[in-house]
Amino acid sequence: MVERLGEPLAEPIFEELAIIGVGLIGSSIARAARRRNAARRIILVDHSVGVLARAKALALGDVVTDDPARAVAQADCVILCVPVGAYEEIGHLIAPALKQGAIVSDVGSVKGAVVATLVPILPEHAPLVPAHPVAGTEYSGPDAGFATLFMNRWCILTPQEGTDAKALRKVRAFWEALGAHVETMNSAHHDLVLAITSHVPHLIAYNLVGAAADLEEVTQSEVMKFSAGGFRDATRIAASDPTMWRDVFLNNRDAVLEMLGRFNEDLTALQRMIRRGDGEGLHALFTRTRAIRMGIVALGQDTAAPDFGRHAAETDEPAP
Ligand code: NAP
Repeated sequence: MVERLGEPLAEPIFEELAIIGVGLIGSSIARAARRRNAARRIILVDHSVGVLARAKALALGDVVTDDPARAVAQADCVILCVPVGAYEEIGHLIAPALKQGAIVSDVGSVKGAVVATLVPILPEHAPLVPAHPVAGTEYSGPDAGFATLFMNRWCILTPQEGTDAKALRKVRAFWEALGAHVETMNSAHHDLVLAITSHVPHLIAYNLVGAAADLEEVTQSEVMKFSAGGFRDATRIAASDPTMWRDVFLNNRDAVLEMLGRFNEDLTALQRMIRRGDGEGLHALFTRTRAIRMGIVALGQDTAAPDFGRHAAETDEPAP
């Protein structure tokens, strides 16, 4: 699947964009925004000296700094691209420095907790427009990012009652410029949907790989040597960033527990089918789930290629 971002915009959407956290997502935003001229100036912030050095070497932005307050002072949009557990600290650092009308947005994988954390901290003159690009890989850091990461992926905006309409329009236009499709929903619904489509699958992958590693009858080297497709795919998901995922589960507790409860019930039903030799029941379920996979491919959210087509998408436009 070859994907190209469009031509640079004649006029940028933001004069100055500050990106806090220059990892997979932050660096991908920087690359895509630069390529599409979605921001005239890009300021990059991170607390890691090594990350800042890489951001500089890769020329990902115009200014690179470890000082969030300095970084946001002239920004008309600030995007938090750090693990959700760091929002409170960063919110307190940037709040006094935000200029009149500066839009604060983010990319966090949970939304209810983000709103609950940031609303009391941010000044009224800085509208909050939470966002979640449903796009990513199991890799982290500035070298892992690429400009086409968001192409044809969904970006969910979760405006609250009274969210500034102009700010919402600008954030929508920004994500569309980066190639994403944009949908809006409330943060509670977002957290429920993502619990089942993303958070619980990650938990299951972590659990599956952890259980295999703990087996006493099968050695770790056998697990790696004979890993079949299903297990290999689970290990890819289970290689995702531990800090980010710890924060996701701590901040989307209710929705994840609700979905896990339902999952456990269905797993028990499956157990029963196997015990009773109910081949018809198993076949019917597997037929239904295959249709969901085909639906995802038909919607352009994945390819039918055996390797998920990930290599083609990722290597299309190498990191600058
Ligand atoms: P990442 O590659 O690990 O990047 C995060 C960066 O933020 C790291 O460089 C990290 O530095 C830095 N950082 C952490 N705390 C900081 C602080 N207090 N001040 C300044 N910099 C700080 O993570 P990512 O995958 O881009 O994820 C970032 C956000 O995107 C998360 O909120 C996640 O929920 C969301 N998201 C991720 C994905 C995905 O698939 N990865 C998809 C959609 C949304 P250190 O590593 O040195 O701490």
